[in-house]
Amino acid sequence: MSRPAHAVINLSHLRHNAEIARQSAPNSQMVAVVKANAYGHGSLAIAQTLEPFADAFAVACIEEARYLRSAGISLPILLLEGVFDPSEIEEAQRHNFWLMLHNPEQVNWVLQAPAANGLGLWLKMDTGMHRLGMTAAEILRGFQQLAEKTPQHKLTLATHFSTADRQDHTYTHQQWSHFSAVKSQLSCLGSAANSAAILAHPQYQCDFIRPGLMLYGCSPFEHAHPIADTLKPVMSLRSAVIAARDVRAGDSVGYGCSWQAQRDSRIATIAVGYGDGYPRHAPQGTDLVIDGHRVPLAGTVSMDMITADITDIAHLDVGAPVELWGEQLSVTELARQCGTISYELLTRMPSRPPRKIVG
Ligand SMILES: *Cc1c(COP(=O)(O)O)cnc(C)c1O
Repeated sequence: MSRPAHAVINLSHLRHNAEIARQSAPNSQMVAVVKANAYGHGSLAIAQTLEPFADAFAVACIEEARYLRSAGISLPILLLEGVFDPSEIEEAQRHNFWLMLHNPEQVNWVLQAPAANGLGLWLKMDTGMHRLGMTAAEILRGFQQLAEKTPQHKLTLATHFSTADRQDHTYTHQQWSHFSAVKSQLSCLGSAANSAAILAHPQYQCDFIRPGLMLYGCSPFEHAHPIADTLKPVMSLRSAVIAARDVRAGDSVGYGCSWQAQRDSRIATIAVGYGDGYPRHAPQGTDLVIDGHRVPLAGTVSMDMITADITDIAHLDVGAPVELWGEQLSVTELARQCGTISYELLTRMPSRPPRKIVG
């Protein structure tokens, strides 16, 4: 038997979530976001499964796109940060990579590139995120220059919302009004919505939606949401109990002796640690699920192991199956207990635990 730590990747759940994304935006094309190794899930298997649902994929950079293209993915692939060097434009054309242009310099690179074939170009407008994107004036100038000099390219106006997951919609509405004021002066396609906006702001879905997190089965909201709550988790991190022992009241467990038994206790040791993607800063008492029972983490997280207090669940023993996150404890809930977000836990998944693909 091999070490039991592994990540289950459930592709039928992925298809279920992709269906929900499609149904939530029936009039939009879907650009499925598979950056950062498909949020840690393994971008090739995810992209292959999503190809029948998606109209294009999105990744952060050309290296991520190159990998998918060379592995046989044939849909267009949008580079969300665009190219970092004008020499990459020629490759983008050859491989049908669409480019985000987030500053006037990238617009100039395209204007100067020899461009026989049409490229998909997404001009990014900064409507309030203040991270990437051009001002309204830069956008209008960029559109005009591109339309005059390189009419073969297909142009889309894009933006990104800062607070689409919040219950207060004021800022999102403001961002939209900046965006639509510019878009109404142009004849082009538009894209604004990530997962949270797709579900919370259907009126802003435009021509292309850009779902990421929801495809992987996580709700983008902290509050209950009728559709988000029907998404199914694609990744479950699982392992097993590999040792169990009794300790006396006053004994301590793990590095730094940070957990001390308040009573005679039983401790289970599980083969998973921060080297497998479990968060090292998980506090004492963080939930994990052993054989269907929620039990508290006891002691600090090691590289290869964690320890849990199983005193209250009499029958648990070596070999019991453990879910660190997934279907019985959502990654969103674990992330909340650890002071982070599902995005971080998923994208930080190292390659060490083998991925077992099901469904
Ligand atoms: C990552 C990303 C998305 C996907 O966001 P989710 O919240 O995961 O749906 C969409 N658009 C852009 C520009 C992104 O960087």
